[in-house]
Amino acid sequence: MDSLRRRLTGELVEPGDPRYAELTAGFNAAVTATPAAVVEARDPHDVVEAVTFAAASRLPVAVQATGHGLADTLDGALLISTRRLDECVVHPDGWARVGAGVRWQQVLEAAAPHGLAPLSGSAPGVGVVGYTTGGGLGPVGRTYGWASDRVRAVEIVTGDGRLRRVTAESEPDLFWAVRGGKGAVGIVTAMEFDLVRQPELYAGALYYAGADAATVLHRWRTWQATLPREATTSVALLQLPPLPGVPEPLAGRFTVAVRFAWTGDAPSGEAALAPMRAAATPLIDAVQTIPYAALGMIHADPADPMPVHEATDLLHALPPEAVDALLTVAGPEAGSPQVIVELRQLGGAYADEPAVPSALDHRDAAFTLITIGVLIPPVAGAVAPHADQVRAAMKPWATGAALPNLGAGVGPERLARSYTPPTLTRLIEVASRFDPEGVLRAGQVPVR
Ligand SMILES: Cc1cc2nc3c(=O)[nH]c(=O)nc-3n(C[C@H](O)[C@H](O)[C@H](O)COP(=O)(O)OP(=O)(O)OC[C@H]3O[C@@H](n4cnc5c(N)ncnc54)[C@H](O)[C@@H]3O)c2cc1C
Repeated sequence: MDSLRRRLTGELVEPGDPRYAELTAGFNAAVTATPAAVVEARDPHDVVEAVTFAAASRLPVAVQATGHGLADTLDGALLISTRRLDECVVHPDGWARVGAGVRWQQVLEAAAPHGLAPLSGSAPGVGVVGYTTGGGLGPVGRTYGWASDRVRAVEIVTGDGRLRRVTAESEPDLFWAVRGGKGAVGIVTAMEFDLVRQPELYAGALYYAGADAATVLHRWRTWQATLPREATTSVALLQLPPLPGVPEPLAGRFTVAVRFAWTGDAPSGEAALAPMRAAATPLIDAVQTIPYAALGMIHADPADPMPVHEATDLLHALPPEAVDALLTVAGPEAGSPQVIVELRQLGGAYADEPAVPSALDHRDAAFTLITIGVLIPPVAGAVAPHADQVRAAMKPWATGAALPNLGAGVGPERLARSYTPPTLTRLIEVASRFDPEGVLRAGQVPVR
């Protein structure tokens, strides 16, 4: 470790160092990471040094930017933290270059003065690279598609310790694999991607009382099927705790949120939303014209770490019986311990094939289903078994697959759900070619 330390511009942090806990912390406080050491990279060459050292020492390597996807204890691994790779440059002609430590909020703010927008996710605190390498589905995805389809180039340290600049032309296999394959083929140090011209949105959420859950969910089901690509929507059964920041009408109650983002003009968005607005009287109507950079308010995801259990599925359809099944197992009368049970509508641009093929599968799915429960007493023990009940109730409409980004998980079963067999075979082949020693075998999506 001392020989590695001498070769780094950044720091090497070992257990016992006061910074070890800070550098290994994840967003999911139920997972404690215990890597052998953390390299806090200051530049791409630190990543090269760390990977080369790990190969020689037979240590597995993992990568972390923000910890939003921490799913594994990373026992005995060398963890490379990219959070100091914080370059963020927005080019007014419509693209951005960011270091691997940058979060979406920074790009949102840098792009806004130019009327430009990145395809960020629902939570602006999430890391650009972890999100984009997993596909990335966000609040305006039905208009603009997956974030990974907007990537122009990545700079990546592959498992053989080489720093490469990867484009569709220069390294087609790596370019295919890194867009969907997360950290399977290397550690990205920087990414360049296209922005969209979208200064504002007509967007937000309608919050309804739990008593209206059946009416709202059934109306959402028929209404979402009528929406054009300008609209992206999701619906969530919420049981938010009475914590600071949670609005009083929602705190400690069962409520339902309908999220809506419209990329066209506000009057046409208002007209598109009207049937949903009329389904019941909202407790809060927070749909309005907003600056694009404020899109975090649409889902209002929590910003602070907490111990959670997540489960996810993709659905191929949502007939009325599926809505009834969901209400029976997770509706206001079900005694559900989940804080969120959410359906996101897919389709639109999500279903388009990319201009350059990528490792992101399951583009034909119709909805994502996600359950999130907080693992604190008195419900802690009930969360996971109940999530299994939700998945079982929705099984008739589940595709059996999952998106690589959602419901963070590791292991062969998870890989088989994230990727079709041909994609997984090709990911393994590409990973074997560029990582002959199998160094990248910790964290999310090691394929070997
Ligand atoms: C509150 C919340 C909201 C979310 N909302 C959405 C959403 O709307 N849409 C969506 O698609 N996802 C969403 N996610 C999932 C999120 O996109 C993934 O967890 C993503 O991996 C987080 O990336 P990160 O860098 O922030 O996390 P980290 O935990 O730092 O990284 C997670 C994984 O990303 C990969 N990765 C990170 N950095 C690199 C790198 N430099 N090179 C190669 N691979 C790397 C690795 O596989 C790593 O294990 C959400 C997650 C949370 C917690």
